[in-house]
Amino acid sequence: MLPEVNSLWLLRLLRDIQLAQFYRPILEELNVTRPEHFDFVRPEDLDGIGMGRPAQRRLAEALKRHCSGLKSKNWVYKILGGFGSEQKETTPPSDSPPCPLEPEGGLKCLIPEGAVCRGERLGSGCFGVVHRGLWMLPSGQSVPVAVKSLRVGPEGPVGAELGDFLREVSVMMKLEHPHVLRLHGLVLGQPLQMVMELAPLGSLHARLTAPAPTPPLPVSLLCLFLRQLAGAMAYLGSRGLVHRDLATRNLLLASPRAIKVADFGLVRPLGGAGGRYVMGGPRPIPYAWCAPESLRHGAFSSASDVWMFGVTLWEMFTGGEEPWAGIPPYLILHQLEKERARLPRPPLCSRALYTLALRCWASHPADRPSFSYLEGLLKEAQPPEGHCVREVMEPGALRMELGDPITIIEGSPDSTTWKGQNGKTFKVGSFPASAVTLADWPATRPVHRGSPARGERCRGSPSGERAKAKLQDPPPAQGHRRDMPLPRMKGISKSLESVLSLGPRPTGGGSSPPELRHARAVPQGPPVLPPRPPFASSSSSPSSQPSRERPPWPKRELHPSHPMGGPGASKATVPCGGLLSDPELQRRVMEVEFSVHGVTHQECQAALRATGGDVVSAIRNLKVDQLFHLSSRSRADCRRILEHYQWDLSAASRYVLARS
Ligand code: AMP
Repeated sequence: MLPEVNSLWLLRLLRDIQLAQFYRPILEELNVTRPEHFDFVRPEDLDGIGMGRPAQRRLAEALKRHCSGLKSKNWVYKILGGFGSEQKETTPPSDSPPCPLEPEGGLKCLIPEGAVCRGERLGSGCFGVVHRGLWMLPSGQSVPVAVKSLRVGPEGPVGAELGDFLREVSVMMKLEHPHVLRLHGLVLGQPLQMVMELAPLGSLHARLTAPAPTPPLPVSLLCLFLRQLAGAMAYLGSRGLVHRDLATRNLLLASPRAIKVADFGLVRPLGGAGGRYVMGGPRPIPYAWCAPESLRHGAFSSASDVWMFGVTLWEMFTGGEEPWAGIPPYLILHQLEKERARLPRPPLCSRALYTLALRCWASHPADRPSFSYLEGLLKEAQPPEGHCVREVMEPGALRMELGDPITIIEGSPDSTTWKGQNGKTFKVGSFPASAVTLADWPATRPVHRGSPARGERCRGSPSGERAKAKLQDPPPAQGHRRDMPLPRMKGISKSLESVLSLGPRPTGGGSSPPELRHARAVPQGPPVLPPRPPFASSSSSPSSQPSRERPPWPKRELHPSHPMGGPGASKATVPCGGLLSDPELQRRVMEVEFSVHGVTHQECQAALRATGGDVVSAIRNLKVDQLFHLSSRSRADCRRILEHYQWDLSAASRYVLARS
């Protein structure tokens, strides 16, 4: 008799459909311990234990879901394994044993379904819904998390969405940076769930657009966020990745003063020629954020991420406005290329920062600064901070009281009026320069045209030179027509679109960017289309990549000398080619099935056939297969890793996932 713990699935299933009272009768009177045992249970048997016909129908439905769930787990392994071609393989030298596991909770791992409880809904994105959750660690400690569940249609997950979801998992598994959202692990349940670090304050876009009385974000904080973002993006680039969806909606607030880059669904490796990724087909992209080469050729690179960084900066300083609101994609491209139009300078944005944005929007990708260079430029462009040295109450002027922190947005040592933000009231306006002293010169007064004191303060002081430079208007960026806004056209949404559908969309708009992210590409024939992008070979497209050829369950050799394959596995063998009596074969199939998570009955049968009925070898071979499909390692490596972990598949999976 199999141990009762193996019937927990039944209890869970019955509980889910409020039929837990039938657990004992089903187990003890009908002897059902496995889902397939229900094949032999007749309605009369269920009548016999007092289960009504509506309840029986509920049970049948639940069983169907349960069984398809088991199948899809296998299928997920295969898809995750299929990402190997896009990943850099980090196979350890074959003669070195795998390292021991990292400390609990510090590892990106497979998380058991029951270890995560979901709470309130936080938002929804391209391929799923995000909930707040609690992750129970085996130590009893609970960690607040965000759980992104893959959206499942009536026919199961949609192929492209599943691909993006799994790609996001496989990318996030490899990232570790203070300003990149951390993935804790994956729940191979129904639906698939990504367990991520919780950003309790939500998206930066939501914060920027929050209505009063929520105060606007101070300019000094926006500048801090920009530095954090540039650092995180430099890190992504150093990992050979392009984000492709940089926007304030994808920056999450982990704390009031820390953002994290999130949403890696569009991330791609920069494997192509010249560190580029070229799209292989019509997929949605956030076109109003995109560089011209992305719109025209579907080409993405770190330089196109830099362009998007400039648009993200613009969003931050406009309080989350939509870039190119109401302009159809083909016109955006036309204006960017032909008119050299750029987004206008937002009133809150200093000229120095706007100049930096214009450099991000250089027409030629090679002319744009790198993210690491941007980190330095951002420090240089940081608006000077000062504080109020005399009360300003004049009508029309920015009100300030003694000691109020003031961020200078515009002004030069020569001007008597500066523009700035009062860090206490968050109001922005002009004020007499004499009312504020700059932090770089705490003991001095600000400067005025013709004031003899000004020259004194600036002369010979490196910090004085820096602050002075910051206050001076930067030269106009070469090759750009500055402040040339595009005409605004209402009614056409423009957050996500395909580069292949650059013509006018039939859909009406006005939706905010997050909602638009659901939009799928609709190839159309636009009237004023630029030439169709010469897309690179289909090998650069993940969707068109042939999946790795893996025969489902190849014949394997026997390893009779190995220790037990898993808990509860018997060492029973039959002579190779010997025929097993049916009940004995069924018993062994079940034994294998119990020992390997997520395999189907048929797969167990095939595995047993391949090993001549040796349960231990069948279990091991299936585990090797599971690990093989989960990682991009060879079968021999998988076997070695499993041996190291004494055939504990989840420990071995955690090991390979952490290093893939
Ligand atoms: P996504 O599918 O990543 O675009 O997420 C959709 C929305 O869910 C985001 O705009 C956020 O509002 C919210 N969200 C996603 N991930 C998290 C997280 N880790 N913490 C808090 N909120 C999140």
